[in-house]
Amino acid sequence: MPEFLDPDQLALREKCHQFAEDHLVQNITGQATATRDEIIRFAKEAGIYRMTQPKAFGGLESSQIELCIAREALASYNPNKLGACFGPSPGVLGAATGPLIDSHLKPLMNGRIRCSFGFTEPDNVSPTNAQEDGDLLRINGQKSYVTGGEDADFINTLVQIEGKGPSMVVVDTACPGVVIEEKFTSLDGSHHAAFQFKNVEVPKSNVIGSAGKGLPKAMKQIGDTRLLFAAEASGFALWVLALLKDHLQSKDKSGTARGNKEVVRWQYANLRIKAYALRSMLYRTARLADSGENVVNEAMATKVFATEAIGEMVDTAIQLVGGVALVENHPLAILYKKVRAWRLAEGASDVLRLNIGRGILELGKGRI
Ligand SMILES: Cc1cc2nc3c(=O)[nH]c(=O)nc-3n(C[C@H](O)[C@H](O)[C@H](O)COP(=O)(O)OP(=O)(O)OC[C@H]3O[C@@H](n4cnc5c(N)ncnc54)[C@H](O)[C@@H]3O)c2cc1C
Repeated sequence: MPEFLDPDQLALREKCHQFAEDHLVQNITGQATATRDEIIRFAKEAGIYRMTQPKAFGGLESSQIELCIAREALASYNPNKLGACFGPSPGVLGAATGPLIDSHLKPLMNGRIRCSFGFTEPDNVSPTNAQEDGDLLRINGQKSYVTGGEDADFINTLVQIEGKGPSMVVVDTACPGVVIEEKFTSLDGSHHAAFQFKNVEVPKSNVIGSAGKGLPKAMKQIGDTRLLFAAEASGFALWVLALLKDHLQSKDKSGTARGNKEVVRWQYANLRIKAYALRSMLYRTARLADSGENVVNEAMATKVFATEAIGEMVDTAIQLVGGVALVENHPLAILYKKVRAWRLAEGASDVLRLNIGRGILELGKGRI
């Protein structure tokens, strides 16, 4: 629970609040929000940036609970450049061995190159596959939703290697045969690309870890991101509740506090109940993950609940604040678009529900 943090964890939370107040809400001149580069510099100085990075690369390799504390605290200010506070994490590339360490992992950790994640495919095509040819893999297929794909130097790509099975393979975007079919922007403002791979040749040493073992790696990365969404959702929930508290304590035209109306109070209380449940789930799942437990089912449950709860909270907050909250640059309008994407990204809520059902009914997995 957020109440039972040790002194180091409390100090981390305090540091993140101070950081947000100093750099995310206003810049040093107190006028505008700090630029992305400024935030990166300040986050490095504060020791926040390195939390997501492995010790082998000078990072802090923070625990799940520490990452949740930091993300929740920063998100509770609803800043518009939250992502800049944390350095690139290795993701599936953390399992790289051999030449991939020097060619891709080190430059990624140093911020010299960028990577994306290629998992989702169009419905009507065969899965992205590869044939072995001597020391090479020849890859054909499509990936339909690669975030940051246009600017990426390489894509960690899920590929079915013939005779071996699903594998994670590094595909450089500059390789002949890698074609961007379409670039698009989703409602939350993030940029993506759809790729085609036409006889793309990569060395077999571009397979991350062992061939045929790619799916668990991809799922681990997705699982970590699910907890990340939940931690940010929890921070945003705190921000929404604080905004609504001020709003409901302010007076309407008749001179009465807006929160005096019973139906409004009832709705606000419901949001507080959701936020309480969300935070409780988040901290419990993070603690289980840190104790080495398998939290696949719990991370799915937390992601589904957190993303649906924050969606409902922002939606209700807009209703209670009124039309002004729907003006394009209102923070609630921006947040509405951002959190909507989370019910699909990293696993659609409906599909995760099916997986949670399967977890218990067919595999006997999952806690309550
Ligand atoms: C902002 C954003 C960023 C993303 N970034 C990436 C990325 O970097 N890399 C990447 O690989 N992907 C990315 N994605 C894609 C994301 O992972 C997929 O959108 C998500 O997994 C859902 O897959 P889909 O869009 O193909 O929808 P589908 O799988 O077609 O699902 C759509 C709906 O169909 C129904 N449905 C689907 N399957 C079943 C089933 N088995 N049983 C019952 N109902 C079902 C559900 O209602 C579901 O919500 C991103 C998506 C978003 C929105």
